[in-house]
Amino acid sequence: MLDDDLVVDLTDLAAAHSGLLPRTLLDWVGLGDKAVERLTDLCASTGRAHIAGSLTDLRLAEPLGRLPRNVICVGANYREHIKESEEAVGPLDLPDEPVYFTKDVRSICGPHDDITAGEDVSGQLDWEVELAVVIGRAGRDIDPSEALGHVFGYAVLNDVSARDIQLSRNQWWKGKSLERSSPFGPYLVTRDEIPDPQNLELRCWVDGVEKQHSNTKLMIHDIAALVSDLSRTLTLEPGDVISTGTPAGVGLGSTPPQWLRPGAVLESEITGLGRQRNRIVQEVE
Ligand code: ZN
Repeated sequence: MLDDDLVVDLTDLAAAHSGLLPRTLLDWVGLGDKAVERLTDLCASTGRAHIAGSLTDLRLAEPLGRLPRNVICVGANYREHIKESEEAVGPLDLPDEPVYFTKDVRSICGPHDDITAGEDVSGQLDWEVELAVVIGRAGRDIDPSEALGHVFGYAVLNDVSARDIQLSRNQWWKGKSLERSSPFGPYLVTRDEIPDPQNLELRCWVDGVEKQHSNTKLMIHDIAALVSDLSRTLTLEPGDVISTGTPAGVGLGSTPPQWLRPGAVLESEITGLGRQRNRIVQEVE
């Protein structure tokens, strides 16, 4: 994106310059920091010849398109959310280490897309605004002090969850992976633009009513700890997305519980990362 909200078409830019330049952002991310600096320079110098449109005119898709692997999600990473969850479902018996589950790549949708919440699929669709971390540099056994250097950037992700499926049948992956249910974006912001990712406000609204309002400084396991912990058993690779958990204020924790119904509007925002806006619909139109 150029300063005046014009969006550069990377595929078009690459095609015009050389057959060797990557055609997608995901491929650029995989080439590392130096390549991304080169891309920034290329956009600044010649981007204007390859404009896709302005931000207000374009329909924004999810950053990176179809992700290469499932989103790695962190459960129970904010104390107040653990408390509200335990009040709703009973003691969680959590370990001291982070708790992980994954969301299928097909559950991710664009930042302004409609979300389907037909009662035949789930009658208990819930919201979870989260900070998502995108890995840019591969690594195994990463020291916490080096961890943020492996991050490409940050984005908003709403880990929309079908509680009836997730909890009553103890099916986390299934309940967290409804088709195109979880908005990602609107932007993937490079890490140099976010000097302190552990001091960002997260907010989520349903029909204009604020439901969640917290700060990433309240994470139990911070980003460096999560990247380091995950990399002890698995090589993290460019394009991996880690969703760092949600703060208090989800529908499950309300008395009585509240769910996303067709007609509702879900909005999610994090400082410096933009705001999503999604309409809940009965069926895909
Ligand atoms: Zn979550």
